[in-house]
Amino acid sequence: MTTTGGKGTGKPYNTARWKATRERILLRDLYTCQMPGCGCGLTTGRTHPRAAVVDHKTPHRGDPDLFWCGDDGLQSLCATCHNRLKQRLEAHGFSNQIGVDGFPVDKRHPWYAGPHWLPGNGRPPGGLNGAGS
Ligand SMILES: [Zn+2]
Repeated sequence: MTTTGGKGTGKPYNTARWKATRERILLRDLYTCQMPGCGCGLTTGRTHPRAAVVDHKTPHRGDPDLFWCGDDGLQSLCATCHNRLKQRLEAHGFSNQIGVDGFPVDKRHPWYAGPHWLPGNGRPPGGLNGAGS
């Protein structure tokens, strides 16, 4: 008898653990979109532009270690901000969201790999934010 799967892999979004985590993050963020400049109140609807999405700041791409990254790696977003973020991710391969501390939230952001890391500068060079739409 061969049994495959059933442990760890599969669809973590369907697990009770994720549901509990999601609830905890939404409560922590007071059902408010954490995208700087947005801050809208979140609803529970699935298709609403303000529907609550709990987002991984660093894309997990199916990696369980990244998926269960801990509460600090998660944020509440509205569906609109989340979709915008995902479109950027697909275009660049990383999130170029800048956190409230002025640093990119995605550790895969090339800024972290560059040698031009200037403490105190506060912002990554290059103006990646200005792409617009
Ligand atoms: Zn938002």
